[in-house]
Amino acid sequence: MSNSVLQQLIEMSRYLGDPANGYAILGEGNSSVRIDEDSFYVKASGTTMANIDESGFVAVSISKVTAIIDDPKAGDEDVTRVFQEALLDPNEKRRPSVEAMLHAILLRVPEYQFIGHTHPIYTNAILCSKVAEEAVSGRLFPDQVVSMKHKSVWIPYVDPGLVLAREVKTRFERFVEEEGVLPSAILMQNHGLITMGASPKAVTSCTDMSEKASRVLVNAYAMGGPRFMSPQDVDRIFTRPDEHYRLNSIAGRKS
Ligand SMILES: [Zn+2]
Repeated sequence: MSNSVLQQLIEMSRYLGDPANGYAILGEGNSSVRIDEDSFYVKASGTTMANIDESGFVAVSISKVTAIIDDPKAGDEDVTRVFQEALLDPNEKRRPSVEAMLHAILLRVPEYQFIGHTHPIYTNAILCSKVAEEAVSGRLFPDQVVSMKHKSVWIPYVDPGLVLAREVKTRFERFVEEEGVLPSAILMQNHGLITMGASPKAVTSCTDMSEKASRVLVNAYAMGGPRFMSPQDVDRIFTRPDEHYRLNSIAGRKS
């Protein structure tokens, strides 16, 4: 089981790191898969997605990594020690990137198994612009709604590391509470994209669609500004499930 998910993770990561896609270069980006209820493989620090293999991933405990995010007294100085303790193999020499915290938060959600984090060129052209928040607030065309749902989670720029992990956790939980559904994409200002799903395909399609929509958006701004779909038109494409999703179904989470 774990070997086959690792193989799927390798293929997904190579796609996300393919230079032809422009989603990540050098050591940029990271990816993960949940192995079982409390463990996940995540890209090791200092590895490149484009040619990654088994040796590019480390196995880490979800609950040990998220404990530091949930503990308001913990600071960035505690991260190195906690990451060491969270390694499933105590003799492991490689380390997960500090962004492994973002993966651990999201992998507590049973419906997500694969996570991809990238810095795609056009998505970042939008996220690094003065109009970023407005530009990602709407939907442009029906297929974008199908891949990326009706709305993405917006994260304003904050310090990378623990501060960012806590901001993502807070805003992700607020999104689920307000919308009653799980998002497919998280957009981080001046940083990049996270996509989440039950399969590698869900992650790569959402990344592809974010990049396509961002290219359209850049050009729409050049032609006088985007005309977003109306909320009614978005709702006609995006059919909400009857029952609102509740985050207290997250494994190990207190109510
Ligand atoms: Zn990043």
